[in-house]
Amino acid sequence: MRAAAGDRSEMSITIVTRFAPSPTGLLHLGHAYSALLAFDEAQRDGGRFVLRIEDIDFTRCRKDFEEALLEDLAWLGLTWELPVRRQSEHLAEYSVVANGLKARGLLYPCFCTRKDILREIESAGGAPHGSEGPLYPGLCRDLSEDERQTRIAAGESFAMRLHLDRAVAEAGNHLEWCDLVKGVQLAQPELLGDVVLVRKDIGCSYHLAVVLDDALQGITRVTRGEDLFEATHLQRLLQALLELPTPEYHHHSLICDDTGKRLAKRDEAETLRSLRVRSESPTDVRSRLGCSF
Ligand code: GLU
Repeated sequence: MRAAAGDRSEMSITIVTRFAPSPTGLLHLGHAYSALLAFDEAQRDGGRFVLRIEDIDFTRCRKDFEEALLEDLAWLGLTWELPVRRQSEHLAEYSVVANGLKARGLLYPCFCTRKDILREIESAGGAPHGSEGPLYPGLCRDLSEDERQTRIAAGESFAMRLHLDRAVAEAGNHLEWCDLVKGVQLAQPELLGDVVLVRKDIGCSYHLAVVLDDALQGITRVTRGEDLFEATHLQRLLQALLELPTPEYHHHSLICDDTGKRLAKRDEAETLRSLRVRSESPTDVRSRLGCSF
């Protein structure tokens, strides 16, 4: 049967947006902007809005911050589907995927400490910088299998890094993604280099978990701050390697304080909590953010 004209559910793909905070601090105005924008994009087009708690980093995430963010978002007037996905409850699933990449020869163990990496970069006279810091100089990329096994057997701790050259050779170097503001982009994963996909301490990584969850939750548009623009180049490559769909992206400009400095979680002044204590309303927050939506 053909869909009647105007029947959105049959005629077009439902937009699914998400807000994916990490409970490592209190939400500030920048988070509020991302969340309100993503929520509004879904509402405007009769779509769905999903909240996901990105709490794999147990060294920094806290339950009280998670409770606070749920309360702050509800106060802002947002509603979301239940149950909320918490990444910490799915670590085994991320491991399975990481092991699959490893079996394909796309990951290698890296025994370096931060100090080792800095020392190497210093002696080489510097390294190209990406949005996550200096690119990994490749110290462990070409270790022999023997050396790897010996060091693992000796109990040395290690992360697993993406072998970028092999990954690009497998996925091709003409991957595209689309940003709503900047248009079609050719993926440049080399901007981030051999990123860690399995951290030493938490057995997973942001990049791996985020692409899996965006796919699993059927996200069609990722709305987030432009500080993650470069990360998308790498995430696009992971989507290709894992045969996952690529959502469209909306990287919005970052919210700054009165001095023009980008808001960070450590800035207490502009948290939603502090605004609430100062008796500001959700409407005040929207107008501070210049939300026309
Ligand atoms: N969890 C990330 C953060 O709080 C956001 C990740 C994303 O939107 O892709 O910074």
